[in-house]
Amino acid sequence: MINQAGHAQYGINIMSNILDGKVLAQKIKDSLKEEVSILKEKTGKVPRMVNLIIGDQHGACAYAKSQKKVAEYIGIDYELATFSKDIPCAEVKEALIKLNKDPSVNGIMIHKPVPDQIDYPVLANCVDVTKDLEGINIVNIGKMMLGHTHIIPCTPAAVMEHIKSTSVDLKGKEAVVVGHSNIVGKPLSLLLLKEHATVTVCHVATSEAGKLINHVQRADILVVAVGRASLIKGEWIKKGAIVIDVGINHVDNKIVGDVEFDKASEQAGFITPVPGGVGPVTVVMLMQNGIESFKRQNSL
Ligand code: NAD
Repeated sequence: MINQAGHAQYGINIMSNILDGKVLAQKIKDSLKEEVSILKEKTGKVPRMVNLIIGDQHGACAYAKSQKKVAEYIGIDYELATFSKDIPCAEVKEALIKLNKDPSVNGIMIHKPVPDQIDYPVLANCVDVTKDLEGINIVNIGKMMLGHTHIIPCTPAAVMEHIKSTSVDLKGKEAVVVGHSNIVGKPLSLLLLKEHATVTVCHVATSEAGKLINHVQRADILVVAVGRASLIKGEWIKKGAIVIDVGINHVDNKIVGDVEFDKASEQAGFITPVPGGVGPVTVVMLMQNGIESFKRQNSL
């Protein structure tokens, strides 16, 4: 069982077992804001990011809006490059190559979803390795695999920030990740391994084999990134576990996670709510990656 420990990092005093993403995000934003102001004093410049959005998909627009707000708060120069929904993939690639070559651009990301004619993996791998804000480029994933990490994919990074905020030492703990996507589950499993947790990755076939409950029940740290409301039953949670719910589901006009929150929070040592858990920290991790890219490009 994991006890509620101190929460030294970022000086957060957690009064309950709820890991409040807005509070954590604010603390990190404040520390990044200070870092950007120091970088500006040193170099006369601030990090600049250009994010691409293709079409007018509602979710992507909302995310871009929240990125802009956070970037402005921190002092990062944020630009949204918009493309019509029927633009050929080759034209976006051309624009991307220009941004890669532009020394004033420190970071680039491509909003998802993209229209059908756009080959997202091709474009994502076309982003310069040093400007890859989301850390999803093949080379950056490879570096992470080897532990040579400076750019970490944003959602897994946000999950790790939440876990770190509990001050619980992961060494030798049972970490169970549910979901094995390239953007969340797989990179997260590498980050947990780096902290010497014993990592189990579950996915749809684990459920189909009727074994999900067995893995979840023994998790000291449980991270769920599936996209199925109430997949994880509250009574499965080990007493005192850290539960990080990445899932986003729309149910009866409400947003809920993948974990049955009310019941799970009676069992968990720490738990993230949905909304207001992982999401607010994810956008801040993108900014952190932008600052990291700026520093590397300026040999700082
Ligand atoms: P994905 O669709 O790429 O992958 C889903 C994963 O869930 C797969 O590994 C699949 O095998 C597994 N899965 C499906 N059904 C399952 C079942 N019944 N039992 C066990 N595993 C099952 O999803 P993704 O892009 O990784 O996103 C997962 C969820 O996280 C979604 O709800 C998404 O909206 C959310 N998300 C949130 C953030 C954030 O910042 N808060 C960021 C990214 C994704």
